[in-house]
Amino acid sequence: MRVLMIAPPGAGKGTQGARIAAHFGVPHLATGDLLRRHVARGTPLGRTVHAYLDRGGLVPDQLMQDLVRKALADATAGGGGYVLDGYPRNPAQAWAAYQIASSIGATAQVALHLRTDDDEVVRRLLTRAGIEHRSDDTEPVIRRRLALYHEVTEPILEWYDRRGILLSVDGMPDADRVTAAVIPALEARRARHKARPGPVPELLIAA
Ligand code: AMP
Repeated sequence: MRVLMIAPPGAGKGTQGARIAAHFGVPHLATGDLLRRHVARGTPLGRTVHAYLDRGGLVPDQLMQDLVRKALADATAGGGGYVLDGYPRNPAQAWAAYQIASSIGATAQVALHLRTDDDEVVRRLLTRAGIEHRSDDTEPVIRRRLALYHEVTEPILEWYDRRGILLSVDGMPDADRVTAAVIPALEARRARHKARPGPVPELLIAA
């Protein structure tokens, strides 16, 4: 199973991504977690990116591309699948994700979108702020991350829709109900993909 997860902050990407990965026995690659680990370890990448994370901005595409290329290559070294959570987040990253995955013969079968309501997302993230103490879970930064999501991330959903791999699920119910909707839908997509691999995206872009 090869899945990309595209959703606003606070939609439950991390929770659902971990459950999907466990269900299908594939690695869960969450770019936010990978970046936070670099920041915590004080690596050169961590020192470069920490200000972007704190301000709720996007880390430059080239840095993300290098990080994702390595993570995907490691994850699929045994020929397995992946849940890539938090990447891509803009059109350039969507194209890079396709090229990286294509070069290792592991393009995504599903782009999973969790639909949410902005006010609910802000409420959830402010609750999380009291528990996890993430530097980017303050209201102004949350608003900035949401605005960026609408501006540069949401437009890529159409591309996945045209590629025929978009799966859009209501992310508003509680986590267990979302999982109960997502897993069977992914199972169905996997069965369909085995029978009929998806079209090549360039052909659709050119169309
Ligand atoms: P997340 O845990 O997915 O909410 O990501 C936390 C932060 O990491 C984001 O607000 C960005 O600063 C950074 N980040 C994660 N994924 C990406 C990405 N694909 N492109 C750019 N920045 C990212």
